[in-house]
Amino acid sequence: MLKVPKDFDSNIYSKWAEESIYTKKNTKRSKSLISCIYQRINKYGNKEIKKYFEIKSEVKTKTNVKLALEDRLKSEAVIKNLLLGNPAEISNIEVLKNNAALFKPYFTEGLYPKFRTEFGREINRMLGFRSCPYCNRAFVFTPIRNKEQKIASRYESDHIFPKETYPYLALNIFNLIPVCATCNLTKNNADIDFFNPFEDCWENEDNPVKFKWGYKNKSQNIIPKAEDIDVFIDYGNNNKFKCASEALGLDEIYKLHKSEAIDVVEIAQKYSDSKLVEISKYFDGSKNGILALKKDLLGPNLNPEEFHKRLLAKFIRDIAEDVGFVDRDDIL
Ligand SMILES: [Zn+2]
Repeated sequence: MLKVPKDFDSNIYSKWAEESIYTKKNTKRSKSLISCIYQRINKYGNKEIKKYFEIKSEVKTKTNVKLALEDRLKSEAVIKNLLLGNPAEISNIEVLKNNAALFKPYFTEGLYPKFRTEFGREINRMLGFRSCPYCNRAFVFTPIRNKEQKIASRYESDHIFPKETYPYLALNIFNLIPVCATCNLTKNNADIDFFNPFEDCWENEDNPVKFKWGYKNKSQNIIPKAEDIDVFIDYGNNNKFKCASEALGLDEIYKLHKSEAIDVVEIAQKYSDSKLVEISKYFDGSKNGILALKKDLLGPNLNPEEFHKRLLAKFIRDIAEDVGFVDRDDIL
């Protein structure tokens, strides 16, 4: 699971939420996403919810327009916090939790599909993230057939806190991460909200999660065959990742990548240290020269911050470390 950078410019979303236009069917009346949510809560919210959002219906009279407008600005600031605040903190707010079912119509029905269509692609552009942070096995864009039956591309996003359980976080920009279609489907509404790719990753300094390989049978083959080896994920004592991996089926699916592990093992066996030293003499003979050769052999994007640019990059890097071809600290 790869770490997704969260230092992107969320002002783009803030501006969009304030200016996006939701036009009512068969009328010319239109409103922004924020005012749309405000009106829904004002109309259907219970007393407790209205209090939380500072919606005071008693000041909504013609004689008190100024006060009503001020109150509305306060309410909209509270709504804005649901769109741009820290989802981990928001998810714990009692009044929202207790009224979760009530929130569905305010944040999901009609609003989420439009948000997804208009802003989904923008989220991925802002993050610049290419492969799925959950599995690193597929890209975050996928082909779909549009209404005209033409093939178009779609960007998948997952709600870290599922929108079924936390509908008030359905439109929160930090609750959405780009993922592949398979992980989105497998995770569905699985309760792994304890795992947040904006905060956690496989490369955790103290307790990294690593892909490993080992011989299953005593092999006669110099270069192992798929039936000779096992590949597995070593979680150390990192239970959080183990649970998240189970929900996404990663242990099982990575067992199908033995041939990619063998490719790395083969490179390591063919290119011993002494052979690399010999070859590097044709270049500059330095340790950097040897590392550069290893990089050429293994391919690009094998440093943690680049993993998202290449499918299986984390897997390839880990197997290369496990077979002793590169060290954990090597910058490739
Ligand atoms: Zn995935």
